[in-house]
Order: sequence, then C-alpha cells, then structure tokens
Amino acid sequence: MEVKKIAVIGSGTMGRGIAYSAALSGFEVTLQDISAEALEKAKNDNGSLANNSVEKGYITSEERDNVQRNITYTTELQKAVEHADLVIEAILEIMELKIDTFKKVEEFAPEHAILATNTSTMSPTEIGAQMKKPDQFVAMHFFNPVHRMKLIEIIRGMDTSDKTVEIIRQVSEKMGKETVEVNEFPGFVTSRMNLIIGNEAMNMLMEGVASAEDIDKAIKLGLNHPMGPFEMADLVGLDSRLRNMESLYHALGEKYRPSPLLVKYVKAGRLGRKSGQGIYTYK
Ligand code: NAD
Repeated sequence: MEVKKIAVIGSGTMGRGIAYSAALSGFEVTLQDISAEALEKAKNDNGSLANNSVEKGYITSEERDNVQRNITYTTELQKAVEHADLVIEAILEIMELKIDTFKKVEEFAPEHAILATNTSTMSPTEIGAQMKKPDQFVAMHFFNPVHRMKLIEIIRGMDTSDKTVEIIRQVSEKMGKETVEVNEFPGFVTSRMNLIIGNEAMNMLMEGVASAEDIDKAIKLGLNHPMGPFEMADLVGLDSRLRNMESLYHALGEKYRPSPLLVKYVKAGRLGRKSGQGIYTYK
C-alpha cells in the first residue's frame, strides 16, 4: 500500500508540525482538532513558518504554496479520517483519551488505514490491544520542531505487523527523516533520556545550584548539547513535560517523580513558549 493521504489528529505543537512536514513532502493532509481556536492558530503558525522558510531560502515559494494547498483544517473527525491511508494521533498524553479517540477513528477510517500514535511515553501495545486491527497499530514518535528534527522513533506494539513497520519507515523516509526501531518500553529511548535530564535540571534550579541561564550554558558548552534543558522544556511545553513525567513515574517509579518546581510552574500557567512565559519569558 502506498500512503498518499494522512490525517493528523490534534493540532497543537506536534500535530501542526507533523501536518506541515507531511504536506511539504507531498502528502495530502487533513489536520483535525476539537478546538476551532487551536486549528486557527495551527493554520496561522504553519503559514508564518512557510513564509519565513521561503524568506530564509529553505523552501521555494512553490513548495510554500503546496504546503498551504495540501493541508485541510477541520474539527470533524469523520471528514478528517474517512479517506486516510494513515492516521497520526497527536493529542494530549492521556491514555484514556487516546484510546477513546482511536476507537472513534476506527469507526470512520478505511479498512486498510494504519493508525499511529505520537505518544512520548505510552504503550502502543496497550492502545493497539483495544483496536480491531492491532497489527495495523504502531507508535510513530516525532520530535519538536518537526520540520527541523531528523528522527522518527518507530515503536512496535506486541501485535504490530512487519508490513505496518515497513510502511511507516517508507512514509518517514519520504518526509526526509531517519528512523530507529525501538522495542516497546516506557519512554522508548529518547523520552526516557530527555525527561530525566530535564527533571534533574529542574531539581538543580530548585536547589539553587545555578541560574537557569547558567545550567543551560553549562549543558550546551560543557556537554555539547545543542539546546539547554530549560530551552528545551520551554519549547516542548511544561504541561506536556509534566504529563510525560507523570506517565513515566507511574510506569517506572521514583526515579521519574516530577520535580516539585515543574509542578509549580504548570500550576502558575507558565507553560513555556506557547504561553509566553516558562522558565524564560518570550515576547
Ligand atoms: P498540545 O497540548 O500542544 O496539543 C494537543 C492538541 O490536541 C490541542 O490542540 C487539543 O485541542 C487537541 N485535542 C485534545 N483532545 C483532542 C481530541 N479528543 N481530538 C482532537 N484533538 C484533541 O500537545 P503536544 O505537545 O502537541 O503533544 C501531543 C502529543 O505528542 C502528546 O502525546 C505528547 O506526549 C507527544 N509529543 C510531544 C512532543 C513535544 O515536544 N511537545 C514531542 C514528541 C511527542
């Protein structure tokens, strides 16, 4: 099966990025969200990204026009998935919500459609087991910002077929990405490593070990990370970060207990770039 049409469910930080990259690679994309406001923001953000990318010479104006043309924005789930060859879910990191959404997706999606979750930490086996066709279910883990990050982690659920993995690999390649195949375990490779670094940085800030700026500088210049852990947390969104930590804490125990400082920032509504203020303040 050749994937031509992709439905992306959830138009937040990740969903809009996945839709943008897929459209740029020539897929016909439908981006769905329950919130019309979130969809409007996604459309504006993708428009600005495409325009800036033309100005900086990363893409041609023809490619920009293709991106705009190739994405349809809708709040209707049926409309989004009824012709899709591949459905990629990027809603909140809440297991019941993901299972509930996929159950609705499979009511409307074609028989042949592959269903993929962009979960950062959760079990594709657990979600896949609730599906009519667990062999067509897989985790396809993108990175933020999607148009710049080269990797997709492919996580096989217990019943995911070789054919499904192969199709996901082909789609990833067409999107210009490299893939790694990971055996299912909470947090896979990247989230598990990244969350522990980010949480440790939060605890250091809480303990007064150094300022946020100096912790970021130390990790960038001393350990050669391209971004500091706080720059990364603000980009990811502190609320998403907290949900992911809670999921790993639940699955793997004490080592992953969310830093109290992270919890405090989220309670204060300081969610990072998306709210204008996180560890740092943004215009
Ligand atoms: P986000 O909060 O930015 O966006 C979530 C979107 O989902 C919102 O627009 C919301 O309106 C929408 N939504 C909620 N319930 C819905 C439903 N039932 N149907 C349709 N839309 C619904 O979240 P995000 O940061 O984009 O994360 C999405 C997923 O991607 C999570 O599973 C997260 O763990 C994963 N992820 C996030 C990152 C990151 O850097 N933020 C990286 C990799 C993976």
